[in-house]
Amino acid sequence: MTNYKALYGRVWRKEHAEQERAKRRERYARLKAAGICVVCCKRPARPGRAKCAECAIRHSLQDAVRRKREREEGIE
Ligand SMILES: [Zn+2]
Repeated sequence: MTNYKALYGRVWRKEHAEQERAKRRERYARLKAAGICVVCCKRPARPGRAKCAECAIRHSLQDAVRRKREREEGIE
């Protein structure tokens, strides 16, 4: 027996995810071209960067936390 509902759901999610990705990419390019932070869409981005100072700091903190957790869990 084939579970058509699950099959259809998977296809739809895949298409939807691709649409979302395309939209995000478009938004990113638009904001970057306008010199606006791509994360908060409010503050101006730092020169030559895609993010404002505040978002860059937050992102680097999140990244540090993630790296620490990965190290503790033994994920290389
Ligand atoms: Zn920002």
